[in-house]
Amino acid sequence: MRADDIDAIVIHCSATREGQDVKASDIDKWHKERGFKMIGYNYVIDLDGTIEMGRPLSMDGAHCSTAGVSGKSYNKHSIGICYVGGLDCFGNPKDTRTRAQKITMNWLVHDLLADFPNIVEVIGHRDASPDVNHDGKVTQNEWIKLCPSFDVRAEFPMSICIAKERKKL
Ligand SMILES: [Zn+2]
Repeated sequence: MRADDIDAIVIHCSATREGQDVKASDIDKWHKERGFKMIGYNYVIDLDGTIEMGRPLSMDGAHCSTAGVSGKSYNKHSIGICYVGGLDCFGNPKDTRTRAQKITMNWLVHDLLADFPNIVEVIGHRDASPDVNHDGKVTQNEWIKLCPSFDVRAEFPMSICIAKERKKL
């Protein structure tokens, strides 16, 4: 991707169980097994809040092939952030983020908003599901995935405000 083309951040979970200490190297291995060149996410947030670098931003992503209402696969114009977790001990979707992961995620999102002035959207993977009824919104009944197991738009209202201001310019 070119820096100018990056207009969104998509948040993911690793879809692993609460407390399972997965690292970017594990995800890299799983994604290679699925036939990707390397890990599909650009950043991984470990359980202890550490940020690990994944796929360089210079390459197209491999984390969100759907387009939501954007009209273009998010792999071509978004930064993919994955936190480790997202499932409870039974394997059901759950926001399992540790306090450290929440703090890091908040910091990283705002840092990226500052670094990439064209970003106008901060969404969860599920919000990029196809807009089946073409009403300009991706609603819960249209979700094809539950990732990242929390409401990203509700969590980052500040980022959404910044993004809206930018859209007006
Ligand atoms: Zn995802």
